[in-house]
Amino acid sequence: MFKGIPVSAGIAIAPIVRLAAQPPVAAAGEKIDANRIAEELQSLERSIALAREQLSGLKEKAMDQLGPEKAAILSAHIAFLDDPSFAGEMKARIENQLCSAPAAVQAVAEQFIALFEGMDNEYMRERADDIRDVSRRLLRNLSSGDSHFAGFPEEPFILAGEDVTPSETLQLPLAYVKGIATAKGGPTSHAAILARSLGIPAVMGGGEAFLAAAETSQMMILDGTTGELWIAPSEEQLSIFREKARQEADDREALDALKDLPAVTLDGHRVHVAANMAVPEEAEALVASGLDGVGLFRSEFLFMDRDSLPDEEEQFDAYKRVVSAFQGKPVIIRTLDAGGDKHLPAMALPKEENPFLGFRAIRISLARPELFRTQLRALLRASAFGRLLIMFPMISHVEQLREAKRLLEEAKEELRMSKAPFDEQLAVGMMMEIPSACLQADAFAKEVQFFSIGTNDLVQYTLAVDRMNESIAHLYSYYHPAVLRLIAHVIDASHRAGIWTGLCGEMAGDPLATELLLGMGLDEFSGAAAVMPKVKARIRSTTIDQARKVARYALSLSSAGDVYRYLHDKTE
Ligand code: PEP
Ligand code: MG
Repeated sequence: MFKGIPVSAGIAIAPIVRLAAQPPVAAAGEKIDANRIAEELQSLERSIALAREQLSGLKEKAMDQLGPEKAAILSAHIAFLDDPSFAGEMKARIENQLCSAPAAVQAVAEQFIALFEGMDNEYMRERADDIRDVSRRLLRNLSSGDSHFAGFPEEPFILAGEDVTPSETLQLPLAYVKGIATAKGGPTSHAAILARSLGIPAVMGGGEAFLAAAETSQMMILDGTTGELWIAPSEEQLSIFREKARQEADDREALDALKDLPAVTLDGHRVHVAANMAVPEEAEALVASGLDGVGLFRSEFLFMDRDSLPDEEEQFDAYKRVVSAFQGKPVIIRTLDAGGDKHLPAMALPKEENPFLGFRAIRISLARPELFRTQLRALLRASAFGRLLIMFPMISHVEQLREAKRLLEEAKEELRMSKAPFDEQLAVGMMMEIPSACLQADAFAKEVQFFSIGTNDLVQYTLAVDRMNESIAHLYSYYHPAVLRLIAHVIDASHRAGIWTGLCGEMAGDPLATELLLGMGLDEFSGAAAVMPKVKARIRSTTIDQARKVARYALSLSSAGDVYRYLHDKTE
């Protein structure tokens, strides 16, 4: 058994197909006779034309299945093929230095990769991956005409390889590929993001030892939730995992049946179960999942992975798409939460010693009012198309909230002057993710219409435990009594002021925490759409009285471990 990084959930059991090793690297500087120049130039041209054709086909497929944002990855690849300095340099090497076509591709790719990797700008550094992807494709076309991909079996398989590029992921036959396992890569790679969007279970970073053991046709189990990779498993392991996979499928089916039922307890206490989302293309699938709306749209994803910021029109289109899709169900859009671990190459943010305590979220928006105003105008304009709520992240000081609201009022005034429609009743809320704000919830409750607790940050700020640091991960827990008390305090203060509280950190999607949060009075649970049906099922199987008892007892305990064990043993 090998352990990698789980990047896309689900269990896959199927024989391995090894992604053919990289096309043999042309011996560096492989030379040709002068009389073969024309021939080599021609095969380079053919390989480029074929790559353009392949990528255009993939782009269309990505557009249909995944929307324009993901398709843009392929446009970047095509742009390199069209860039005269890229292909021109390859031709020059064939003509002037008598390189073979593969040697020319190899050398120019290396040169461009080094160039991009040496740049200061992170966005440009990431372009090195695009060059790798494109040049791999060209080399493959030169050696085999992409037979590498034509050769997949028409029966279930798990793809195993050193790494897999985004365009390769898109090229997999969806009807047969059951999983992807790689030696390299990680959860935020584009290939991982695509695997999740396509619903292919995936584990990356399994290591070289995994790759050495993985041979075509061997049976394999991949668990995209735990990161386990079993090669040639025993009959016993196979039957355990087959059962686990069956259980997952049953769960999905049972939960599907609840899809259109409300999140209401056995004794009639109604709450909302909503989805978190990051890119507008997810909207239509989320609407179909029967949830009560969107509890957190992380708008920063519109600003990531690009070298210029989205203008008002682009933002308006994105927000409008989501709000209209939900047809009157509430959609909470959070203003830009850049900084921390969310890098925005287009903004050239300063490098900081303590990014999570630094220039982040609302602090950036207030320091760059022109940027903030653009977003607020786009949000307001989109509010005319459904039920949009605006939420501000990382508020710690009352003045920040007031300044943000003042800028919002200014934007409204501008729109009124230009007679642009927007929702005059639009509700404004704030994230409760900094302990100081939670402790002052009564003061904040007078100035907003709702709170949403962000436990991901609240835990790290309350316990002084960096949410990204694996070596102290055992100290990071939302069951810590101090965190629970802050949550209870925020909910109580909101209710006293007549407003409501949601929770949009990972805790909202943990079914073990559902009864506890319900009993504390939480009004809205928002998390990844895949896990929320389980939360809804928990809500529908208890009473508010029972949940209150659970909350009261859990709040009397004095350690995170005690709370966890109590909740765990209770559900066993
Ligand atoms: C949170 O902090 O809990 C939250 C939902 O925001 P993010 O994870 O985007 O920081
Ligand atoms: Mg946060």
